Amino acid sequence: MNARDLGKSLEQLIEEIVLKTAKAVAKELPSEEQLKLLEERTKSIEVTLSHILKKSGGNPLRRSNRGRKPGEQRICSSAGCNRPVVARGMCSMHYQRWRADQQTPKSGAKAAAKTGAKAAAKSKAVKAKAAEKKTD
Ligand SMILES: [Zn+2]
Repeated sequence: MNARDLGKSLEQLIEEIVLKTAKAVAKELPSEEQLKLLEERTKSIEVTLSHILKKSGGNPLRRSNRGRKPGEQRICSSAGCNRPVVARGMCSMHYQRWRADQQTPKSGAKAAAKTGAKAAAKSKAVKAKAAEKKTD
């Protein structure tokens, strides 16, 4: 094999590599059609999002701790609660309570009765435990 042949086969090899690379890159890149589809989907998501934000009267995420550093996390506005804010200035528990109240204002008494019954049951259990201790 002389230098000329070697150069030719090298050239062929390089050409083959270039072709293969180009094919691989073309496969990885999204086509123009795909990009257009993505753009349309993004736009529709933007429209939906702005619609939701308008309905909810502002950005619901703005007052939460989302994206806040631990040092600047806000604390639940409910008295005696030190949990971090999730939404509307409340921790997840108080926010969920508030939401339940909002959705079913009439069942508030029912819910109170339920928690009252729970508390009664708890105090009963505590008393029973205390009695158990006394008998020891
Ligand atoms: Zn709370």
